[in-house]
Amino acid sequence: MDTYQPSGRASPLFFATAALAVVVAAAVAGLYQLAMRGVIGFDLRAAFVVPLLYGAVLGGITWAATRYGHCRAARPALIAAVAVALVGWAVSYYWDYRLHDVGDVSFWEFLSLKRVSGWKSKSSHWDGGWVVFFWTLEALLVVPLAIALGRAGWSAPYCESCRRWARKLTLDVRGVSRDDARPALDAGDLRALIELRGDSVTTLALEAELCPKCATGWLTAAEKRNTTTGKQTHTLHHALIKRARMSPEAIEAFHDRRNADIGQKLKPIN
Ligand SMILES: [Zn+2]
Repeated sequence: MDTYQPSGRASPLFFATAALAVVVAAAVAGLYQLAMRGVIGFDLRAAFVVPLLYGAVLGGITWAATRYGHCRAARPALIAAVAVALVGWAVSYYWDYRLHDVGDVSFWEFLSLKRVSGWKSKSSHWDGGWVVFFWTLEALLVVPLAIALGRAGWSAPYCESCRRWARKLTLDVRGVSRDDARPALDAGDLRALIELRGDSVTTLALEAELCPKCATGWLTAAEKRNTTTGKQTHTLHHALIKRARMSPEAIEAFHDRRNADIGQKLKPIN
């Protein structure tokens, strides 16, 4: 089956959105530093959560740059994600320096003074090696998360002819199992797959990613099965196809079935 492959292209606009992302990251670093000052020494958990949140925000900034810059290429997305993560991380130290009123002490002197003085909590004093340890830990919380989330946007389905990102719609086809789906999958007939009916205990979870302008789309399908162990219910997913190209007929069938499903839910109960 023909599946979605990113084209590896990026709009020239991506240079601008990526550069803007770096500038925004440098500004957000100031807010992060203010938040960290508020929590350090008061709540140890927050001292972990705030860097993770910051990493997620930096990742979100690159993700937005990828979307608005129409980047469908892995390497430029990765470079932007690394630049935003490293700038966001490094500039937060500079903000720390600026937010302290330290007169004519230079930035590097400030860092070594900070290492020596450390942080005080109620019962203990963390300085020297501990400061380096916490700085390293902080970097490990912020940077990898920012890169992982930031580089994720490029591989999403994109309609090359309309220059639009696809929109995701979901549909649960109840009563259909992967065995029911097998003949339609083997025949590569996505329309037949979408129109399946059955009385199995499983559900066929469909996800269509569709161009908002034309009849182009990709279908992902998985079987969902609920299992109960003790008092807990888990949902097992069994992937069947990922981003298989849909024909215009399959897209129409998807819309029809989804609308019927929504209509069913809206019907008043007698
Ligand atoms: Zn299109």
